[in-house]
Amino acid sequence: MIRKKVLVTGGAGFVGSHLCERLLNDGHEVVCLDNYFTGQKQNIVHLLSNPFFELIRHDVTMPFFIEVDEIYNLACPASPIHYQYNAIKTMKTSVMGAINMLGLAKRIRATILQASTSEVYGDPHVHPQVESYWGHVNPIGERACYDEGKRAAETLFVNYNKQNNVKIKIIRIFNTYGPRMHPNDGRVVSNFIVQALKGNDITIYGDGSQTRSFQYVDDLVEGMIKMMGSREDFTGPVNIGNPGEFTILQLAEMVIRLTNSKSKIIRMPLPPDDPTQRRPDISLARKELDWEPKIPLEQGLIKTIEYFDSIIR
Ligand code: NAD
Ligand code: UDP
Repeated sequence: MIRKKVLVTGGAGFVGSHLCERLLNDGHEVVCLDNYFTGQKQNIVHLLSNPFFELIRHDVTMPFFIEVDEIYNLACPASPIHYQYNAIKTMKTSVMGAINMLGLAKRIRATILQASTSEVYGDPHVHPQVESYWGHVNPIGERACYDEGKRAAETLFVNYNKQNNVKIKIIRIFNTYGPRMHPNDGRVVSNFIVQALKGNDITIYGDGSQTRSFQYVDDLVEGMIKMMGSREDFTGPVNIGNPGEFTILQLAEMVIRLTNSKSKIIRMPLPPDDPTQRRPDISLARKELDWEPKIPLEQGLIKTIEYFDSIIR
């Protein structure tokens, strides 16, 4: 095996921490870069004693220089409440972060993977979502700083590839959950589990008929590694998500059942531009990466509930 030197931006976040752990377990050297906006040292503290792990506080909106073989660009707040908190900064992180990391990849001839998102499809009119669908995004709405920032980043990736031969990989990640999600980050899986464990009301926004497809974090990390290792001319974008589709009401009921909670379901207003349906078509990932998710929702929720149980009691 060849030991690679890998940079993970946003490495102290939920997904990034699992990716750093996996890369170290695979025998690579990992440099984790983060500004700790939504990530935490707590997520990677168990890796600090590993001599092949290095942690750097840095903001991707500023240039950064290092010699590595591969870059995974994950730096960006991902939960609606966090990315809307400072919308301008979110867009700067996506766009300037992409420019800085692509410039670095160009200079050192590294392969660079972009953590894009199903949000590039917006509130989709094509269902399930295929990579060839251009999406339906409100460019001036509450979600635009994230959606358009990620769309602009995809454009930058594709053009650095065409103009400068940078080796790029774009994955479009669908809703992912698992241990180390921030308990207060407002995403639906963490919200419902924390509410159920504390016996608080379960907050459904709207009537709960909107759908999402939930992927367990280990499946995503496997997809990321497979994409990074795919043949050079396969640049994506490729959907990485679990095609199991659930209404938010079904998710709430499942969480209540699995936690044996006495929590009641209450309705709250639906945020603007909240997508009504979301499900990945993963034919391309199956074909090109020989990848598909392995962990069904109920099994992943049980592991995630165990994690939240251990940190909030
Ligand atoms: P997260 O908020 O836990 O992680 C993001 C990390 O990026 C955090 O550690 C944060 O501190 C860091 N960060 C933010 N701005 C930064 C900046 N300017 N400079 C340096 N670091 C910065 O979110 P996550 O769920 O782990 O998401 C990771 C990536 O995957 C994001 O790019 C996100 O858009 C993408 N993604 C995630 C999901 C999901 O469901 N989790 C879905 C689609 C896409
Ligand atoms: N949601 C909800 N209650 C919550 C948090 C979220 O009903 O406490 C809904 C939200 O309106 C959306 C879905 O769950 O329809 C997924 O929300 P999340 O913020 O996790 O991700 P995204 O909307 O970005 O897919």
